[in-house]
Amino acid sequence: MTFPLKAKLSAAFALVTICVVAFIFFYAHYALDSNFQRYLLHRQDTRIAEVKRSAEESYAASGAWESRSIEPIGISALEQGLILVLRDASGGVVWDAAEHNSGMCADMLEDMAANMRREYPDVDGGYTTQNIALYAESGRTGELEIGYYGPFYLTSDESLFIGAVDGALLFGTVLSLLLSLAAGILLAWRIASPIAKVAAVSREIAKGDYNARGDEGDSTTEIRSLIRAVNELAYVLSEQRRLRKRLTQDIEHELKTPMYALQCNVEAMIDGVYDPSPERLRGCLDEITRINGMIGGLNALAKSEDNSLEIERGEFDMGEMLASVCAGFEGAFADKGVALTCGNARFRVSTDGGKLARILVNLLSNSLKYTPEGGRVAVNARDGADRFEVTVADNGCGISAKDMPLIFERFYRTDESRARGTGGAGIGLAIVRALATALGGTVSVESEPGVRTVFTVSIAK
Ligand code: ADP
Repeated sequence: MTFPLKAKLSAAFALVTICVVAFIFFYAHYALDSNFQRYLLHRQDTRIAEVKRSAEESYAASGAWESRSIEPIGISALEQGLILVLRDASGGVVWDAAEHNSGMCADMLEDMAANMRREYPDVDGGYTTQNIALYAESGRTGELEIGYYGPFYLTSDESLFIGAVDGALLFGTVLSLLLSLAAGILLAWRIASPIAKVAAVSREIAKGDYNARGDEGDSTTEIRSLIRAVNELAYVLSEQRRLRKRLTQDIEHELKTPMYALQCNVEAMIDGVYDPSPERLRGCLDEITRINGMIGGLNALAKSEDNSLEIERGEFDMGEMLASVCAGFEGAFADKGVALTCGNARFRVSTDGGKLARILVNLLSNSLKYTPEGGRVAVNARDGADRFEVTVADNGCGISAKDMPLIFERFYRTDESRARGTGGAGIGLAIVRALATALGGTVSVESEPGVRTVFTVSIAK
């Protein structure tokens, strides 16, 4: 069973948000409650101490208990929720709040009980009294009986305050919950929808639409690199399809004409129209050899243009590599009477030696083909800061300006090459370019027709 990413992310965000917000709400509520209870207990102790101090001061002022001076203390205490009874040293009542205003005392206690039941239903409260002995310099002067709703109490104002704070807390909690949920859903949507779009583009590509592309403008790094990877995949697939198509067209075009010519020649010989002379048969054989060479070359080209071409990097001495490639050509150059010089290269490189050698072989065999007897060919290598270069220079027939931009195209052969009947298939330089690109390098050519041609291969170290 699968679920959409949007739904999963939204549910995860919602769960986390609810947990966090609920925790904050309950913790804040608990912290507020317990701190407020501590404050109430402390306030009660302070008030009781205050009443005791006031009563003792009143006694000290007149040297005796006077209900006139005690009354304001008792009324003020009553307003603060404390019910006083003051007795002198012999136990006689000096002032009693219940006598003063018994209705007010009962109402106040009832109010407090109601407030406490509402705000602190868990607190087991009730009317509590506390007896406090009063002293003057002469000794014990009397006793204060203080009654209140214990263990602590809430006045109506305080109850209103607590209610307002609770309400604000609840409002803030619900609001932040809604905002976080909305933000979570928005975020989930923003993450999931580009992924859904990439999936749609991938499906298009799978159906064969290699022009389908995702929008690379996403601001999330991972999603952007995912879209980029899918786009690159589409590009590579479309390039491969293009190459495949071109290769098939090229093969058809390049093989059809010589095969047809061969067919006509052989049929004419069978029908007795042509005499099967050794020259004619050699002509057919040359053509077959050329077609064969072309097929071999096509195979190599297909491999070198394939993006999966493996680079086997290794370190080797450049001088030794040049010498070994040149050694392989010594016989052929000597047979044709062309001088081959191999320059000294005293540096080491790290690249795919096999592919570099293949590049040199192609360039050298071209130089041999297009340099007449008595000519010279030189191979050299030069080390640079971040690249090295290999040059193959000859003083052969050269390449005309009009052919220069085309010689690296596959199957392109100059008129000169065709006229000379070199047997080339026009693939050698296409392979050189593909291999140089695979090695992270470039190949360039300079030529002066009839004077010289220099091919330079430049490869990153
Ligand atoms: P080919 O098999 O015909 O040599 P290439 O792809 O190797 O095919 O070369 C393409 C064309 O470039 C050749 O037909 C030839 O005319 C020209 N060319 C290549 N190398 C040289 C050179 N060293 N001197 C003169 N022309 C050259």
